[in-house]
Amino acid sequence: MSVSVVLFTGDLRLHDHPPLRAALGGGREVVPLFVRDSAVEAAGFAVPNRRAFLADCLQDLDEGLRGRGGRLVVRSGDVVRETCAVATQSGADEVHMSGEHTRYARHREDRLRAALEADGRRLYVHDGVVTAVDPGTLTPAGSDHFAVFTPYHRRWAGHRLREPLGAPHRVPVPDGVHSEPLPVRTEVAGTSPGLAAGGETEGRRRLTAWLRTGAGAYEERHDDLAGDATSRLSPHLHFGTVSATEAVHRARRAGGPGAEAFVRQLCWRDFHRQVLAARPAASARDYRTRHDHWRTARTAADDIEAWRRGLTGYPVVDAAMRQLAHEGWMHNRGRLLTASFLAKTLYVDWRIGADHFLGLLVDGDIANNQLNWQWVAGTGTDSRPNRVLNPVLQGRRYDPDGAYVRRWVPELAGVSGPAVHELWKLPAAERARYDYPEPIVDLGEALARFRRARDLD
Ligand SMILES: Cc1cc2nc3c(=O)[nH]c(=O)nc-3n(C[C@H](O)[C@H](O)[C@H](O)COP(=O)(O)OP(=O)(O)OC[C@H]3O[C@@H](n4cnc5c(N)ncnc54)[C@H](O)[C@@H]3O)c2cc1C
Repeated sequence: MSVSVVLFTGDLRLHDHPPLRAALGGGREVVPLFVRDSAVEAAGFAVPNRRAFLADCLQDLDEGLRGRGGRLVVRSGDVVRETCAVATQSGADEVHMSGEHTRYARHREDRLRAALEADGRRLYVHDGVVTAVDPGTLTPAGSDHFAVFTPYHRRWAGHRLREPLGAPHRVPVPDGVHSEPLPVRTEVAGTSPGLAAGGETEGRRRLTAWLRTGAGAYEERHDDLAGDATSRLSPHLHFGTVSATEAVHRARRAGGPGAEAFVRQLCWRDFHRQVLAARPAASARDYRTRHDHWRTARTAADDIEAWRRGLTGYPVVDAAMRQLAHEGWMHNRGRLLTASFLAKTLYVDWRIGADHFLGLLVDGDIANNQLNWQWVAGTGTDSRPNRVLNPVLQGRRYDPDGAYVRRWVPELAGVSGPAVHELWKLPAAERARYDYPEPIVDLGEALARFRRARDLD
C-alpha cells in the first residue's frame, strides 16, 4: 500500500486539516508525524508554558488518531532529517504539510523539499490551513502587503474562504515506525500555575461554548478586564487545535454583532501575518522607525524589573503583569496598557517587553506579539504612533469597579471600588495599611520625556 507522511506543525488537529485529508486520498496509509524541532528549542522559543500546552496537544492528537485506528509518531531533532528518516523507514513517497509564512517556516520548507526530492519523494504544501487568508493572497495596488488594517479588513471580509473539512473517520498507520514517548504536561517544570489545558478536544469545546454563550456580548464586553469576556482561543489558534477558517465560518453562521466583532479580531491575526511575511525583519527591528533612543536593560534595569514583577505602583498595570505570570495569558486590554506603560511611559525598548511576553505567553506568537508590541510602541502599523495610554484612566475605564485589580493584586483587596486605581487619593492612614509600592514614575514627567524623545514639542 502507498504511504504518505503528514508533518504536523502549527496545525495540531484532525478536523479541517487539508494535508491529512490529501495524504489519505486514494486509500493510502499515513504516518502522522510531529518533530520536536531542535531549532525551536535552540532559539529559546520552547518556553515551559508553551511546551506544556504542546504536550497536551500531542497527547490529544494521539488519542484522536488512536480512535481512528492510528497513532502519532513523535521524533526530536532536526525537522528535515527526522522527516526524511520517517519517510525512508515507512517507504513513503510523499510528505504533506501546511504552508506557513515566517522566514523560518519558508526556510524549513525549502530544505525539506530539496532533501525529499533528492531522494525521489515529493513535498505537498497546503495553503490556508494555519491562517484563514494566507499572506500574499490579498495585496493592495503597488505593494506586496497591506500596511493599514481597515482596507485589509475590507478585502479580507469579502474574500471567499474554503469550506472547512470534517475529521477523517479512519487513519491507517503502517506498522514499524518508531515513536519516542509523547511529552507529558506534568513533566514540564516552571509553568504558570493557572495555565490553560491544550488539545483539539478542549479547543473545539471552547469554540462551541464561546459561540453559544460568549460571543453574543463580545462587542460590548471585550474590553471589560474583570469580566474576562473574550474567547481565550488564542493558544488554540496558535497551536492550530482550532482552525481559523472553521472559526470564521462558524462565527458567521452564529451571526450578530458580537460574532462579527470576533471575526474582525481573527482578521487582525491574518493582517499581522501578512505584514511579517512581507517584512520578516519586523520581528526584531522597527517596521517604521521613529528614531527612538530607547532606555535599555542597562539604563532602566529597576523600572524593567518592577514592570516584570507587577510592582510599578500602577495597580492595573501590576494586575495585568501578575495575570501574565499566573496564567501565561493576559487580557488584550491588559496587553495594550502594560505594553504602552513599558514602551511609552517608561520609554523602554519594546523588544525587552516583547521578549518578556514571549517567555510566558502560552499563545506567544512571533507575528502577533512582535507586531502588536510595535503597534503599541508606535513603530508599527498604528496610524497614531504617539498616543500614550494613561494607566489611571485605563484602569478607571476598563476596570470601573476595581475588581480586576483586587483579583490579581491581593495586597489591595481591602480597597473598595474604583479608589483602588488612585491610592494616592486615600487618607494617609488608610494608604499606609497597604503594603504596595508608590508609583515608580510620575505620569506627567514620563509623558514629557516621551514627547521630547519623539521630538513632538
Ligand atoms: C503587546 C501585545 C502582545 C500580543 N501578543 C500576542 C501573542 O503573542 N499571541 C497572540 O495570539 N496574540 C497576541 N496579542 C493579541 C491579543 O491580545 C490576543 O490575541 C488576545 O488577547 C487573545 O485573547 P482571546 O483569544 O480571548 O482573544 P479574542 O478577543 O477572543 O479574539 C479572538 C482571536 O483573534 C485574534 N486576535 C485578537 N486580537 C488580536 C490582535 N490585536 N492581533 C492579532 N490577533 C488578534 C487572536 O487569535 C484571538 O484568539 C498581543 C497584543 C498586544 C497588545
